Amino acid sequence: MTTDFTDLPLDHRILKSLKTKGFEKPTEIQSLAIGHALLGKDLLASSKTGSGKTLAFLLPALHRVLREKPLSRKDPRVLIIAPTRELAKQVFLQLKWLISSQNVTATLILGGENFNDQVKALKRNPQFVVGTAGRIADHVKDKSLYLNGLELLIFDEADRMLDLGFADELKLIDHCADHRKRQTMMFSATLDSAELHYLTEKMLNAPQRISVGEANAPHLDISQYFYFSDHLDHKIQQLEKLLESTDNKQVIVFTATREDTDKLSKHLSEANYDSVALSAGLTQSQRSHIMNAFSRGQHQILVTTDVASRGLDLLNVEWVINFDLPKHADEYVHRIGRTGRAGNLGNAASLVGPKDWDSFKSIQRFLTQTIEFSELPGLAGKFKGFKSKTAAKPKTVQKTKRSNKKTDAQAPPKKRVRTIEGVDVGDAPMRRKPRSASMDVESDEEE
Ligand code: ADP
Ligand code: MG
Repeated sequence: MTTDFTDLPLDHRILKSLKTKGFEKPTEIQSLAIGHALLGKDLLASSKTGSGKTLAFLLPALHRVLREKPLSRKDPRVLIIAPTRELAKQVFLQLKWLISSQNVTATLILGGENFNDQVKALKRNPQFVVGTAGRIADHVKDKSLYLNGLELLIFDEADRMLDLGFADELKLIDHCADHRKRQTMMFSATLDSAELHYLTEKMLNAPQRISVGEANAPHLDISQYFYFSDHLDHKIQQLEKLLESTDNKQVIVFTATREDTDKLSKHLSEANYDSVALSAGLTQSQRSHIMNAFSRGQHQILVTTDVASRGLDLLNVEWVINFDLPKHADEYVHRIGRTGRAGNLGNAASLVGPKDWDSFKSIQRFLTQTIEFSELPGLAGKFKGFKSKTAAKPKTVQKTKRSNKKTDAQAPPKKRVRTIEGVDVGDAPMRRKPRSASMDVESDEEE
């Protein structure tokens, strides 16, 4: 195992930048991925949140740009795509820092920003382009971005882009940059979905699969707590109680919808907390303003949706609170990974009400462990979860909507009746939508 960056065959200018930053030892994913990437191999790489995946792809990419002759003088040599504007910007800033004393050019292409300014920036033939999938694909269609000379295509959080319904854009980009010499790399903490497998089969050429640890292994730097909740007001009381114990450290609170981010943040501000809301419904300048202020530590609490669950590296965040559970277990892993980064310790608390129960079960299944519940003083929930449906259903009774359009004589299954006194019992069946059709409000989509 590599113990020092200097053990890796990286260009001396890169080693110098790392030294200046005080980075001496590569993380495990870095030493493995860099070694393989420098051999020109396609990669499918995963490791836990906060383990340094960004440099694992930026360092070999920069090495290539510094050392190898370009395939084209005009087209970008490296294209990096991320699922959200905030993450693309963060990757871009890390790249800018790395190339600050080199003669290397880069541009950032985000949805929500002026298209023509981006066309002008692309005309200057940057060697690196970093951006979000939708807008990059728009530039390809507009012929303001040509990918014939692309040498390295990198997908950060590739699985999330599919969740957001960007499969077509990714395929278009792949198609326009399709030549023998292209190298492709995908990174995420969760890379096991069937849909992603289909894409990797198409886009990657005999990829090297690197995975450091399992996606569902417990993240030892994050203490996880779960609390039963009865209804909205109860959740709010529990949230305020949890906030009391955060010692004014930064907190990210995740809600299910963008509307809820506003409502909850307003409520917290009225209760004298320093809180801001971030969702994909805001303008790009509002989003930038909020993220800049929060990352500089100007606010204690960021209330947001899954738009901020991926990749964001905010080292002062010590608490993640799931006011609502995410629908998909993968997102739970990413949400809590906004804390406990780069060896720091963090805490994650999740409020589990009746409407979260199916999500909770799915998270528990994913984490393959029995989760213990805690109680907040004076705020224990009456709700204690629903009993599992033990009675095996006859195979002919299908759960999908389609099967309920009775083509057979089978009666539709009876709806589960859930009643508990004093508890807001919802019925929110968690069902993963087909990814291409998941551009709904709750996914808080990007462009
Ligand atoms: P991931 O993409 O795996 O979630 P990031 O690339 O965002 O993780 O990195 C998490 C944090 O770790 C960042 O603040 C980054 O600067 C820091 N970091 C990355 N590599 C190293 C290293 N080799 N030594 C020390 N810190 C590192
Ligand atoms: Mg990352």
